[in-house]
Amino acid sequence: MKHKHKFLLLCIGLMLCLGLYACEEPKVLTADDLTSYAWETTAAATSTAVETETSVVEPSKPAQTSVVSAEPTTAPENTVAVDPTTAVAQTSTVIIEEPTTAPAEPQEIIPTEEINTLIAEADILAKGYFYDEAISFLQASELKEEYFTEKIAEYEAQKAALVKYEGKAYHVFFHSLIIDTDLAFDNKGHSADGYNMWMTTVSEFKAMLPLFLENDFVLYDITWMSEIVDGKVQAKDIYLPEGKKPLIISIDDVNYYDYMKSDGFAQRLDVDADGRVCTIVKGNDGKEQITYDGDVMPILDSFVEEHPEFSFRGAKGIVALTGYQGAFGYRITDPDDYSKEVMDGFKAKTVEVATALRESGWQIACHSYTHNQYWNTKAITMKQIKYDISRWQSYIAEYVGKTNIIITPFGVSFSEDDERMQYLISEGFTIFCPVAANMNTKFYDGYMYQERLNLDGLTMLRYPERISKYLFDPALVVDEARPPMEK
Ligand SMILES: [Zn+2]
Repeated sequence: MKHKHKFLLLCIGLMLCLGLYACEEPKVLTADDLTSYAWETTAAATSTAVETETSVVEPSKPAQTSVVSAEPTTAPENTVAVDPTTAVAQTSTVIIEEPTTAPAEPQEIIPTEEINTLIAEADILAKGYFYDEAISFLQASELKEEYFTEKIAEYEAQKAALVKYEGKAYHVFFHSLIIDTDLAFDNKGHSADGYNMWMTTVSEFKAMLPLFLENDFVLYDITWMSEIVDGKVQAKDIYLPEGKKPLIISIDDVNYYDYMKSDGFAQRLDVDADGRVCTIVKGNDGKEQITYDGDVMPILDSFVEEHPEFSFRGAKGIVALTGYQGAFGYRITDPDDYSKEVMDGFKAKTVEVATALRESGWQIACHSYTHNQYWNTKAITMKQIKYDISRWQSYIAEYVGKTNIIITPFGVSFSEDDERMQYLISEGFTIFCPVAANMNTKFYDGYMYQERLNLDGLTMLRYPERISKYLFDPALVVDEARPPMEK
């Protein structure tokens, strides 16, 4: 009886194993300022005209849908092979009528559930291209390494299959997203035309993400694209799975300026109890609430969580800040308007948001302090640029951390030998991002130069070919709430 009982247990064990797997002075931004973004697009238009390349957006491939699951063959093979009846038959020279002692060894109970859980976690790491981390994670388990041999080999093969990427980098940018299109396009407050041209809506941004994913784009960190060798900035090799293309996303003016607050945008960024970056949004009742789809950052964070394969090793994007009206919606540069206690609170929040952003894969960039027109006209003098950048370093970098990325206001660029460019390099900026539709990347001794394409109403409605040429068909995403735009 005793033996039968054990044998039964073993059978159940086996079944389980197999079955379970199945500004001089900071300047108030006006409508004119927004309109002057037109410069960015004019410049972009010029550069498109010269373009002769005929590359087309690659045909869609189905999104990767590999589900976290354990292969039935992974673990148990070596450990459950002993069949008590066979064992008896093979070893018996004397017939034993009823073996009363258990056959040796085969009693190990395999912790199937634990193995599956660990493999599921490792699979998420590997899907996000953290291959070494996935392997170390399994190896660190107290369970026998042989359970994971096959999985580890799979991750090693995926890592070995990365290839050097030789194509272009794709850099697109947005401003803070329009949440409420009724408010944005009602022509009360700021003009509907300005928002229609330079802004993107939440629904559009959400619709773009699966298209990027289907078209084989993968988020890549701009700071991994260059390195300083012998004092010179040089291109750094990019390794991606075959067919994948690096995508850089930036968001300009993440300051939640006063003039936008009643026009259907978020009020500010915040960090929730779990350390996630969230948006604070005013509801119809006027009360503030926490949301996770009030701007690019939390939306992208959630999308990457659902699709780890969309982000190479946790890369997200770049948040570009001016100093005009503080940072992330906290007025840390307006000490005259608030008490010291309130200002201290703003500063603490700014640090908290910046830390949470960086920890979740975001970079922070300087977008000038003043965003003054003298940038737009390129009339900015050495004295003005020094004033502007030094204020950003003192009043913004102090709380959000130093950065080597500068995203110029109005998309302006300076030539390499311009003393203003040399000044920016001397301030530690080695990544320089203006605006131009072809998204070219070039290297100079002191900096990497990378053009960005604006994915806003103007490009989607007036120059859709700039998007369809490289990325996706913008007609698939345009928000119906947009007013018509004259061509
Ligand atoms: Zn700007």
